Amino acid sequence: MSKGLIIVVSAPSGAGKTTICKKVVALNPSIVHSISYSTRKPREGEINGVDYFFVSEKSFFKSRLSREFIEWAKVHGNFYGTPKAFIENSINNGLDVILDIDVVGALKVKKKYPESVLIFILPPNKNELESRLRKRNTEDEENIKKRLNNAEKELKYINNYNYVVKNIDLNEAVDKVKAIIKAEKSNIKRWEKVI
Ligand code: 5GP
Repeated sequence: MSKGLIIVVSAPSGAGKTTICKKVVALNPSIVHSISYSTRKPREGEINGVDYFFVSEKSFFKSRLSREFIEWAKVHGNFYGTPKAFIENSINNGLDVILDIDVVGALKVKKKYPESVLIFILPPNKNELESRLRKRNTEDEENIKKRLNNAEKELKYINNYNYVVKNIDLNEAVDKVKAIIKAEKSNIKRWEKVI
């Protein structure tokens, strides 16, 4: 059995990354979504163990010390970490795993797993990003400003990514991500000597 792919998806907050990842996973049983640990407070409707494992800072630092994360980062003032055991188990069982993480985490994953595939999702333009963030109604004004300001910084990392997908139409963006995954599975780098 060949090893699964690690697919890292990053985007400025409000670009539609989480929705795209959820749709790609829902349509394909061989792709799983990595659920991160976070010290952020759950938003309305978010479920522990589904959207994130919501933990205290104390518990997060304990896991970090025990090297339970393949990467961790402080994003918009909260800590987030990707669980190592889930990623390793998934790829070793031939499952592809999607990581919905920030630019700093993405580079750390690429360093540890150079064969991983990095996809950057872009909003159609800056105004649309702000309007999506506001429509989402999940952040207060201070957080919206923080997230828009971070978007500018995150864009500087785009050249470290393998692919860029503009999310103008959601279904089209989902199709593009699926096509990237499909093509990457046939990439010559992943060729295995079977004959
Ligand atoms: P949100 O609070 O909006 O759910 O996520 C904020 C940011 O943290 C997003 O860019 C998201 O991709 C990122 N993020 C979520 N989980 C992780 C993780 O495990 N590691 C890193 N480095 N970033 C994460």
